[in-house]
Amino acid sequence: IERTLSIIKPDATKRNLTGKINAKFEDAGLRIVAQKRIHLTKDQAGVFYAVHKERPFFDELTSFMASEPVVVQVLEGENAIAKNREVMGATNPAEAAAGTIRAEFAESVGENSVHGSDAPETAAVEIAYFFSGLELV
Ligand code: ATP
Ligand code: MG
Repeated sequence: IERTLSIIKPDATKRNLTGKINAKFEDAGLRIVAQKRIHLTKDQAGVFYAVHKERPFFDELTSFMASEPVVVQVLEGENAIAKNREVMGATNPAEAAAGTIRAEFAESVGENSVHGSDAPETAAVEIAYFFSGLELV
């Protein structure tokens, strides 16, 4: 059984889509084992997305992630990392498969409703960035 870090991004929390997005995770067999709503500072978003620091969209991305509260969550299931990314769909909603979260809800390549860890190593680091051991059962 595997765990992954998911973020419901500001464009989605703003439009009250948390429940609809969570239903897609649960329908796919992913269990929400931890969840909280937080408002990131731009610096905190920058630490989270440090791997993209040199990319042209870094400033836009971190401003967006700090623009409104987000819902951070830990999803658990068989192959949770790959399964979550499948349910999310492609980064660019124009290329996301029908029925995926990004196909249904994302507004643009930047404001694309959800984040999901991309590997076991990044999942461990990202989960520890937002959740303490006491919050994970
Ligand atoms: P995430 O890491 O958020 O789960 P991802 O792995 O599908 O998404 P990445 O390539 O890691 O995509 O990019 C991280 C995030 O940066 C994207 O989800 C998106 O919000 C933003 N982003 C990526 N490419 C662009 C772009 N060309 N213009 C604006 N924002 C972008
Ligand atoms: Mg990524």
